[in-house]
Amino acid sequence: MPYEVKGVVARSKGAPVTVETVIVPDPGPGEAVVDIQACGVCHTDLHYREGGINDDYPFLLGHEAAGTVAAVGEGVTNVAVGDFVVLNWRAVCGQCRACLKGELQYCFNTHNAAQKMTLADGTELSAALGIGAFVEKTLVHSGQCTKVDPQAPATAAGLLGCGVMAGVGAAINTGGVQRGESVAVFGCGGVGNAAIAGAKLAGATTIIAVDIDDRKLEWARRFGATHTVNSKATDAVEAIKGHTNGFGVDVAIDAVGHPAVFEQAFYARDLAGRVVLVGVPTPEMTITLPLIEVFGRGGAVKSSWYGDCLPSRDFPMLVDLYRQGRFPLEDFVSETIGIDDVESAFEKMHHGEVLRSVVVF
Ligand SMILES: [Zn+2]
Ligand SMILES: [Zn+2]
Repeated sequence: MPYEVKGVVARSKGAPVTVETVIVPDPGPGEAVVDIQACGVCHTDLHYREGGINDDYPFLLGHEAAGTVAAVGEGVTNVAVGDFVVLNWRAVCGQCRACLKGELQYCFNTHNAAQKMTLADGTELSAALGIGAFVEKTLVHSGQCTKVDPQAPATAAGLLGCGVMAGVGAAINTGGVQRGESVAVFGCGGVGNAAIAGAKLAGATTIIAVDIDDRKLEWARRFGATHTVNSKATDAVEAIKGHTNGFGVDVAIDAVGHPAVFEQAFYARDLAGRVVLVGVPTPEMTITLPLIEVFGRGGAVKSSWYGDCLPSRDFPMLVDLYRQGRFPLEDFVSETIGIDDVESAFEKMHHGEVLRSVVVF
């Protein structure tokens, strides 16, 4: 029997989201239905609503979620009914050219559920990032379910499914931050502060937070920033050099995804330093850099897709570190809200008032 549940839907470009009846099919082969306990509100959900991702309306929003497995389809062996899981959007295929090279974090053919969830009238929904989790139950590919310690609160654990993992991974996976290194993080929202927490976890001794909002710089201190720079008032590159004996940082992370910020990150690093772009730019953005600077500064300029994470490796590890008091996962939760409050959470997020609002079911 298909399930009939309530979910948050974006019906058309720019229109406020609405709570609608969603029909969730029974899981087919390789699929799982998950009872969602909590789902964070991410910028990407707002981008979907605004048509910034694609035009496949209506969207079922939400993708940073944790819950328990309610049902599994034929052939599912990685999870069972009752398992506490964090949902991911990197269910690796094991067969594409990236996977065959052993670089599963780049998998070019990740799995999603084959069936579609629909509105009550049968209209097919596009699930945000192949998940769709502002809903009481959702249908995913079983590979999108990662089992973690059930002692972790769902509100915090779910955030690993997207923003927190992207930020932590930008520091520890893509940036390869090592003990004693210096790191600058540009943009101190959820992803940026997760990068700061990741840099701290990896043992960075100088962590410089850069933002134009003093409130966000306050947050950054809580997550482990040793220095803060308000780039509205100060030249960020000069300030970063000032905090690193004139050299610049080993790793500069752009968690904004804007040409002006990327340029600051590019110039704020030491010779042979790494630049990591984890903030997502829009298609019309371009950047011009003197090629001699790209060559002469050496090091690496990298993008970080989803923090180059492997959910099966990284989610349980971060939950365990959280349970041991070594990673402040819960501090990313600014507030818990109901399913009717997603639109107002977008407002708060847009104005930089919250790190994460989390819908609880
Ligand atoms: Zn693959
Ligand atoms: Zn997200």
